[in-house]
Amino acid sequence: MAEKILLIEDEEKLARMVELELRYEGYEVEKAFDGRTGLERALSGEHGLILLDIMLPALSGMEVLRRLRRESTVPVIMLTARDTVVDKVSGLDSGADDYITKPFAIEELLARIRAALRKRPAQQEAHTLTVGPLSMDVDRHEVTVNGESVELTRREFDLLHYLMENREKVISRESLLDHVWGFDFVGETNAVDVYIRFLRTKIDEAFHVKLIHTVRGVGYVVKYDV
Ligand code: CA
Repeated sequence: MAEKILLIEDEEKLARMVELELRYEGYEVEKAFDGRTGLERALSGEHGLILLDIMLPALSGMEVLRRLRRESTVPVIMLTARDTVVDKVSGLDSGADDYITKPFAIEELLARIRAALRKRPAQQEAHTLTVGPLSMDVDRHEVTVNGESVELTRREFDLLHYLMENREKVISRESLLDHVWGFDFVGETNAVDVYIRFLRTKIDEAFHVKLIHTVRGVGYVVKYDV
């Protein structure tokens, strides 16, 4: 399958030129012409790499990068007309993988794209679930928030796993009991609520994030709003 590249660039002529070259090289290309749309598309997780202009309408490239990095490790190459050391440093500090100054030779851009794609951590191939800053490596039984590891018991892990698999869907207590505890509960139980509280303490409260939401009278949902 062709690698899909997201190009966030407001100079339409340049964007079209880069798009044509990338397609010629066999990449799939999606374009966005402002920062807000670009961020929205970048967060979809559909792209293998992002080319990100710095001077953009609606939301600057730096801001797009900052927000994207809360959620995603997708390789990002910054494009900019400016060539100051300050830009370069702040771009790389904010989590850009590489940097290219306009005007650039298309061959150079292609070389950097190939390098960035090669460098991509193998972890992305692994079975990883991600919701905002929350990440779960299912095979290794590891949970992290912003890269910092969270110690969970087996039951907490299983509960979080089920919620993350169903991210953004509200799951009822009954359904959670059924899938995580695995038996038909008879009568009143607050097991789910108790374990949700454990997860909240270890994740939401410990990292000052809002990921585990209660939907009153319905159940629970794991989601992250930018
Ligand atoms: Ca621009």
